[in-house]
Amino acid sequence: MADVLYTNVRIFDGGGEAPFTGDVLVQGNTISRVVKTGFGQRLPPSSSTIAGAQVIDAGGAFLMPGMVEAHTHFSWNDQPSLDAIQRMPPEEHILWCAEVAKKYLDMGWTSCVGAAAAKPRLDVVIRNAINDGTIVGPRYLAASQEITVPGGLGDTTQPHLPQPEFAFGAIVSGAEEMRRCVRMFAKYGVDSLKINLSGESITGMPGEMSQFTEEEIRVCVEEAKAWGKRVAAHARSAWSVKQCVKQGIEVIYHASFTDEEALDMLEAKKLEHFVAPGLAWLINTSHHASQWGLTPEVTKKMGYHRELEAAIDSMKAMRKRGIRILPGGDYGFAWTPHGTNAKDLEYFVRHVGMSTMEALLSATAWGGPMMKMGKRIGYIREGCLADLLLIDGDPLADITVLQDKARILSVMKDGQWHRAPPVRNARATRWAA
Ligand SMILES: [Zn+2]
Repeated sequence: MADVLYTNVRIFDGGGEAPFTGDVLVQGNTISRVVKTGFGQRLPPSSSTIAGAQVIDAGGAFLMPGMVEAHTHFSWNDQPSLDAIQRMPPEEHILWCAEVAKKYLDMGWTSCVGAAAAKPRLDVVIRNAINDGTIVGPRYLAASQEITVPGGLGDTTQPHLPQPEFAFGAIVSGAEEMRRCVRMFAKYGVDSLKINLSGESITGMPGEMSQFTEEEIRVCVEEAKAWGKRVAAHARSAWSVKQCVKQGIEVIYHASFTDEEALDMLEAKKLEHFVAPGLAWLINTSHHASQWGLTPEVTKKMGYHRELEAAIDSMKAMRKRGIRILPGGDYGFAWTPHGTNAKDLEYFVRHVGMSTMEALLSATAWGGPMMKMGKRIGYIREGCLADLLLIDGDPLADITVLQDKARILSVMKDGQWHRAPPVRNARATRWAA
């Protein structure tokens, strides 16, 4: 692809400063020049060529780093239950995952962190297919299935059909089975192991319950680290959050129920952990799932309303303590469909008290280390990889513009257009109102 010069863009560079007007040159897959200019005119983009570079006159549109989704399940198939996800035959399932991967890129998520797959190898196969160009998708870290215990979250087998093929998760009991399971997923080539440390009310085991022994968790982490893998945990209970810190589980999903001890422990090691609360799941399960039988009365009885309140309090406390909270979480259910993930940023602003700047940083600057890529992504700086979104609007003024595909004018990943910006119509001299 030719080099690309964005001119007249308002640049949000991921550093936390107010955006500035300038030009950005992309050569190959790298941002090679960022220059401050003056105030720009607000006109729709136009395109021309200078010295072999495609010039996008962005007309004052907002240029930001591609977003990073911290808790992605490509294989959740927008259905209302774990069974409905798990029972999809593998042939259809892999095609579904490929379609969803493209959808994330369409919506500006240029990187995604896999948080568990519904079958052992779905995530690995998708990651490899993205990397070798077979399919289109974001940068991706592949996860294992959810590792669980008999009767725990993710054990969807029936008493008369105990076969592992019927299980949503990988079921282990005891340290040696855990070790074997981690080794199996390492053999398959996952980037991370997902362990379900706590329950999940919708499955019958409350989120405040914890299901593994300390010894089983220790073996999981020890074995994963021996293979150079990361561990991520479904951790709703305070006990499970503490286990994450105590045993070195880097990625903490949910963390709804915390106490002072859990918060203190986490704060003391805040640069060693990431928290992705998945508020979308709690909010929409509690209040927007009636169509699937989960009326607010039902979900209140399940404990979700109380958990949502607890989770918001936990996130507010974590924000104050400087613990990194990232967007993403359990999109891929019927009431949290894939592609609506930028709602997480709205929830951060509306419920957790983040500024729009903090919400944007949670999806950009903090995404680099979450992707194990340090500062190579998440910034618009010379030398960074060119993952760039051109936005019609100002997410700092209205964070919800990122939920609207039509406002995401272009998506570039690794210096390549996934979607080039629409070019100015000769008759149009202003943006549509
Ligand atoms: Zn999840």
